[in-house]
Amino acid sequence: MSVQVVAAKMAEVELKDVPTGKDLPAESPAGSSAASPTAEPSSKPGEGSLGLLTPNPAKMPQASAMKRSDPQQNGGEAFINRDGTVAEAPRMKKIQFADQKQEFNKRPSKIGRRSLSRSISQSSTDSYSSAASYTDSSDDETSPRDKQQKNSKGNGDFCIKNIKQADFGRREIEIAEQEMPALMALRKRAQGEKPLAGAKVVGCTHITAQTAVLMETLSALGAQCRWAACNIYSTQNEVAAALAEGGFSVFAWKGESEDDFWWCIDRCVNVEGWQPNMILDDGGDLTHWIYKKYPNMFKKIKGIVEESVTGVHRLYQLSKAGKLCVPAMNVNDSVTKQKFDNLYCCRESILDGLKRTTDVMFGGKQVVVCGYGEVGKGCCAALKAMGSIVYVTEIDPICALQACMDGFRLVKLNEVMRQVDIVITCTGNKNVVVRENLDRMKNGCIVCNMGHSNTEIDVASLRTPELTWERVRSQVDHVIWPDGKRIVLLAEGRLLNLSCSTVPTFVLSITATTQALALIELYNAPEGRYKQDVYLLPKKMDEYVASLHLPTFDAHLTELTDEQAKYLGLNKNGPFKPNYYRYENL
Ligand code: NAD
Repeated sequence: MSVQVVAAKMAEVELKDVPTGKDLPAESPAGSSAASPTAEPSSKPGEGSLGLLTPNPAKMPQASAMKRSDPQQNGGEAFINRDGTVAEAPRMKKIQFADQKQEFNKRPSKIGRRSLSRSISQSSTDSYSSAASYTDSSDDETSPRDKQQKNSKGNGDFCIKNIKQADFGRREIEIAEQEMPALMALRKRAQGEKPLAGAKVVGCTHITAQTAVLMETLSALGAQCRWAACNIYSTQNEVAAALAEGGFSVFAWKGESEDDFWWCIDRCVNVEGWQPNMILDDGGDLTHWIYKKYPNMFKKIKGIVEESVTGVHRLYQLSKAGKLCVPAMNVNDSVTKQKFDNLYCCRESILDGLKRTTDVMFGGKQVVVCGYGEVGKGCCAALKAMGSIVYVTEIDPICALQACMDGFRLVKLNEVMRQVDIVITCTGNKNVVVRENLDRMKNGCIVCNMGHSNTEIDVASLRTPELTWERVRSQVDHVIWPDGKRIVLLAEGRLLNLSCSTVPTFVLSITATTQALALIELYNAPEGRYKQDVYLLPKKMDEYVASLHLPTFDAHLTELTDEQAKYLGLNKNGPFKPNYYRYENL
């Protein structure tokens, strides 16, 4: 097998060769920890299957990035309309696991369906995709399940809000493509080679423009896809329409009920004449559904790729219990995903989320950031750059020392509680800001959370009779004390950026590329390479994902000389760091 994944020339920029096959080191799983045991490929560890993407420059397409082709048919171009309205970002709600015996033909009434959607989604809060839809779905009350729609080719194997929004959705996808260079590069490289030929991928992720770029890339690499949303509010209806128009079987719309949610997932897998052989999941709900309803499907499934913290956690639980029946890739803990999603994404979106909700000016404001991990580092860096005076709280002396060395004052929360203008939690812990702290805050203090769960701020403690709640804007509550003091609580303590802003497409590009490579790797891996366990992508593929994004910056990577490579004991083509290397970068 060829070991060169890519020696591609993308546009004018030549990328570094990135081997994936036998060049790859026999590595222990990157990022594995006691809490998250990660398996090692059994045979020829790390010998990736991406040699299938060995480029053939002669076959590189010359089309511009904006030119679209029909993802399923290699056919028609898409056109762009200039219509569409701007709506606020959706609220993230929780979905409980459905009753296994649920029957979808016993559908609740329209009112019943709506009330079902009041529950709150765990799976929706642990992945950080851009969740804003620019389509307001409220104008048409008819449930998509009650509509008979067909695309322009007469295909009706989808269920979405409104197929007529396809042109608008196409524009959104094209905009996203411009910030997703690696996926576009994978498409170009796949010309003539289809590393996912025969792959039948069932997916459950946020259905946004960025996901559409991923799906169309998988299709260009040879896969057939059926897709549902992993969140009842995050679907961009216009994007779902564009996908359906392009021939994808998409079952998703913004504002699904819980019943709709599971119905959509079921429609993806329970179809005559089509059985998935790969799963791409975000949150674990799809995997869970197949486990419970169609366990026999796992006989044909070659692997699971999971993006989210929660989904990965579930996979590890299955693995620990000896119940995982196929290999799974943990994308969440890939270095590139972690660094970019947690650090860089939050560095940008913290300001966006605060600004959109409060119009606050950052210069000179006193801010306390709880937790100086990846997310905390990103938040602190952004706020410092804007001229805020930033305090940090930490429990870990190492992170605390980092905060000090980075120029932040390390404090206990109560020492600064009376003076700060903004409080941000990003610890992944619970009850970091409690009622006692909230009582001490000054009038007008903004309180928000960037961590995974809504337990970091004890919001429940604010729901007492003496305090008045006023909803002043979407996702913005004033909580008013009897003496008139009010604090500004954002997104009811849920993830600020996911709830109130969008996430940079470029960050999602990195995650999506990792997902695509994980699918290729699992799909093409020879029998026995991966056992029924949870794996991380080999570090070389992480490096490859990063290298695919470098041309965006016109970045020129230095190559090791033979002498230098020998001196450092490295292969010239990488991997360049051991698995325990931490990539601390702030
Ligand atoms: P991390 O483990 O790197 O950092 C968390 C830090 O909080 C650690 O250094 C820990 O010592 C500290 N901490 C724990 N309890 C504390 C307490 N009571 N007071 C002060 N500090 C405390 O994790 P991370 O990657 O920074 O992620 C933090 C949270 O943000 C997680 O819940 C993660 O799922 C979530 N997350 C959010 C986004 C987003 O877009 N908003 C992106 C990625 C991750």
